[in-house]
Amino acid sequence: MQHHDVDVLVIGAGAGGLFTAARLAHRGYRTLVVERRDRVGGRASSEVIDGFTVNNGAIVIETGGITEQTFAEVGARFDVRPAKPPILYRIGGKDVDVTGGGWGFLLGRLTRQGAKLLEGLGAARTDDGLPEGQLSTADWVRRYTANEKVHGIFRNMCASIFAVSSEDLPAAVFLTYFTRRSAFKKFGFCPEGTIGLWRALADAIEGGGTGGVHGEVWLDSEVTALDVGDDGTVTGATVVRDGREVAVRSRVVVSDAGPAATVDLVGREHLPADYTATIDTTPCAMIVVNFASREPLVEAPGLLSFATTRRMCYVANFTATCPEMAPEGWHLYNGTSVPEPATGDFDEESERALLYADLREQIPGFDTARVLSETVWRDGWPPQRAVAGHDLPHTTPIANLWNVGDAVKQYANGGTTACAETAALVTDEIVARYPETTPA
Ligand SMILES: Cc1cc2nc3c(=O)[nH]c(=O)nc-3n(C[C@H](O)[C@H](O)[C@H](O)COP(=O)(O)OP(=O)(O)OC[C@H]3O[C@@H](n4cnc5c(N)ncnc54)[C@H](O)[C@@H]3O)c2cc1C
Repeated sequence: MQHHDVDVLVIGAGAGGLFTAARLAHRGYRTLVVERRDRVGGRASSEVIDGFTVNNGAIVIETGGITEQTFAEVGARFDVRPAKPPILYRIGGKDVDVTGGGWGFLLGRLTRQGAKLLEGLGAARTDDGLPEGQLSTADWVRRYTANEKVHGIFRNMCASIFAVSSEDLPAAVFLTYFTRRSAFKKFGFCPEGTIGLWRALADAIEGGGTGGVHGEVWLDSEVTALDVGDDGTVTGATVVRDGREVAVRSRVVVSDAGPAATVDLVGREHLPADYTATIDTTPCAMIVVNFASREPLVEAPGLLSFATTRRMCYVANFTATCPEMAPEGWHLYNGTSVPEPATGDFDEESERALLYADLREQIPGFDTARVLSETVWRDGWPPQRAVAGHDLPHTTPIANLWNVGDAVKQYANGGTTACAETAALVTDEIVARYPETTPA
């Protein structure tokens, strides 16, 4: 068996794993990222289909926040092209730009009761004004209005950002996100496909960044077991690479595989039962149709969201901002829905039919478009491993083992932004506990 010694082993080259690995490699830790798939990015990756760059998973990346800051700190290229305006809302047949006008302008377009709702949003800026417990976002909105369009907008916001319906998302999470967090106000697309960002981070890990970094990213390689020493800490892992087993010795392990998979790699017998009883999260679901056409079908240059759809929460227009994502003369889009129920079992066939019905109704000409791919994201490969508000801790009962990624988000955050936030916290904790690095 081959042997390999590192300071930190990172399981998985998803957003969470790469953000953490890039930060640690930049701080001088010998860092090895092991990824089972043939590419980086996990559920935020991309593929080329007949000359079209099709995103598999995350499509928009927040700018001006922790994500961009991480790229700057590790010296990786942050190639995100902002869509201007980032989002339009289709209300009463018109595509409305609320940039600058904010909630007041949006709600004012929807209902005369907008002022009351706005007051509720204002109250939520103080801790006393946040609704308690598990009151859903939909029930919170019902306190102010029964207006279907208002409910439609809130439902589609919850779906777009958190991949659940407003019936499933605690109002406290929604309101905390919009009153205290960066809230994806500014975002854009990566012209290389979202994978371009993770390639840039992987390059930085492998020495292309600033600060004398020495790390590696192994693709097509799988961590099959973690080793636990007599003192109860993790000592390394078995990795299968090119069909051969490699024994990796590591002082610290960071897992981006999700807490349940991490426990399986460690072996339940090495962990307290009261911990293993809590690690199963409830993932949510999304359905995505990527399509292309020779005629422009959507005017919104970024995302188009809706007040009245059955299920579809947005249509993304990639080529208005990044024409290189499609062969010349083509326009590239995706339509996305969150099924009902978003958590738990749902009927895939009827949910797909509802998304197609929305696409036909909202996008005139959709029937002439070319469907490039269709994906149902659920169960073990979901849009969010834990519903926001139901996240697990990033620490584990094993002192030198951490989880990162979207099952261990900070309260009221989502997607790749949340992965960047947890990565920064985990890095600081590792540096505080294990300050020595191995010289290159
Ligand atoms: C359809 C869809 C749309 C989305 N839209 C957005 C969006 O627009 N913006 C946004 O910010 N977020 C979006 N998200 C959410 C975002 O994609 C995820 O939150 C994020 O990518 C999750 O990253 P992660 O690091 O937690 O996990 P993952 O991406 O799942 O990464 C984990 C990696 O670990 C690897 N792995 C697991 N086990 C092992 C093992 N034993 N050995 C080796 N490798 C292993 C996996 O192969 C995987 O690559 C979307 C998600 C979906 C599905």
